[in-house]
Amino acid sequence: MTQSVEEIQILKNFINGQWMDASTNQYQDVFNPATEEKIGRVPISSYSDVDEAVETAKLAFMSWKKTPVPKRARILFNFHQLLIKHKEELAKLITLENGKSLKEARGEVLRGIECVEFACNAPSLMKGENLAEIAGDIDSQLFRYPLGVVGGITPFNFPMMVPCWMFPLAVALGNTFVLKPSERTPLLANRLAELFSQAGLPPGVFNIVHGAHDVVNGLLEHEDVKAISFVGSEPVAKYVYEKAAANGKRVQALAGAKNHHIVMPDAQHDETIQQIINSAFGSAGQRCMACSAVVLVDEADDFVHRLTEKIRQIKMGNGMEDDVLLTPVIREKNYANAVEYIQKGIEEGAKLVLDGRMQKDEFRKGYFLGPTVFDGVKPDMSIAREEIFAPVLSLYRAEDLNEALQIVNLSKYGNSATIYTNDAGAIRKFREEAEPGMLGVNVGVPAPMAFFPFSGGKQSFYGDLHVNGTDGVYFYTRIKMVTSRLVYSS
Ligand code: NAD
Repeated sequence: MTQSVEEIQILKNFINGQWMDASTNQYQDVFNPATEEKIGRVPISSYSDVDEAVETAKLAFMSWKKTPVPKRARILFNFHQLLIKHKEELAKLITLENGKSLKEARGEVLRGIECVEFACNAPSLMKGENLAEIAGDIDSQLFRYPLGVVGGITPFNFPMMVPCWMFPLAVALGNTFVLKPSERTPLLANRLAELFSQAGLPPGVFNIVHGAHDVVNGLLEHEDVKAISFVGSEPVAKYVYEKAAANGKRVQALAGAKNHHIVMPDAQHDETIQQIINSAFGSAGQRCMACSAVVLVDEADDFVHRLTEKIRQIKMGNGMEDDVLLTPVIREKNYANAVEYIQKGIEEGAKLVLDGRMQKDEFRKGYFLGPTVFDGVKPDMSIAREEIFAPVLSLYRAEDLNEALQIVNLSKYGNSATIYTNDAGAIRKFREEAEPGMLGVNVGVPAPMAFFPFSGGKQSFYGDLHVNGTDGVYFYTRIKMVTSRLVYSS
């Protein structure tokens, strides 16, 4: 049933613990990608909204940084309990606005909750170091302090997990935060703000300003924003990194990906095929860890036959339905972009084994692209070089592991790669020679965990300190060294 205009939620910004109208008359529709129904309208806020949020966060920082660390952690514990209580509701909201299956959405909620669990450790994570007698009567101490106001800019594909890589830890460590969620999936963030407030967070510590480029630029240019965390596509990540750094800010910018999976001759076929299918087609290929290329070493024809047969059986549909694996891409524009790449793949000589475009007529509503597979892909083709971010899989053939690794390392991206084998020597060679920063061994999605850094490299990451784990702690804190000469008479 189509919603009437009155039922469609007009989103507000969250500033100083209150819902505020943005100072703009520009709004953008938010759609359910599976039905094309309008589910909300998001304000495209202005510089003055950013200014208001940052000023509020700056004021809140004065008392938040002085709030005892265990007391801050207790609010995170309350937030954690609320997230657990509302986890099914949150998962449904993710499916509604992002389109991914409920199963994937539930997994995403859990990944987000794990980040909050990690942030609950703030008292341990913030502990300093000391060394007595570095010289006669002199001791050294290291103290860790929050930075101030931190900005977060997030993509559409993980409306909960990616913001949770940022704000729970930053806030637990004593910073205040301004989040700009993706304008394509803005609903979940507002629900997180409500729950965080309900957990006892003081006003102004966590703020949301919805919008697009102006909000991003506002954060990058504001002198009171001390650090920027960004996750999104490569060109924007590079832009954010350069501009934030030029304005004297700390910045971590996580970018696009092209993830290769190497299948060695000894790989266990059924399990490997299952891992590849989930990785390449789950969330419609719109995961930064999605398998977008399979490199088959040695005799591979039987494997390709079995893989494509399994791919043909994938159930496509609305993520709210049971057992659906392949869900829609986020917008019509993303569908069109993928179709353009499929056309280029054909023109550049790859063999189209499965054509997802054929499915479009069966799904008149929703941005559905069926599973698409190219064989005989070469590293110089557009479909091999560029991130498509859709359910389009490329198959390469390689004579041996050396050639497979060359293919992996030719990519400008370095987010992740996986090898399927039980050969210890091959695994070790892969670990030593593959350039991406997140490696999987018989694991289709070597997903980031809250307590380890997400270590993508090359053009998949701009910055020094990654999100999550100790890198996250170091990113959101600064240190002071105190050297003391304290003489006492014995
Ligand atoms: P996107 O780059 O279009 O948008 C990301 C954010 O940047 C959004 O908040 C958006 O409003 C803002 N933005 C977009 N264009 C901008 C511009 N020209 N100037 C200023 N701000 C701008 O990314 P997306 O389509 O939302 O997300 C998908 C991308 O994110 C993929 O490339 C994917 O690989 C990447 N991603 C990477 C990781 C990772 O960990 N490396 C994780 C998730 C997603």
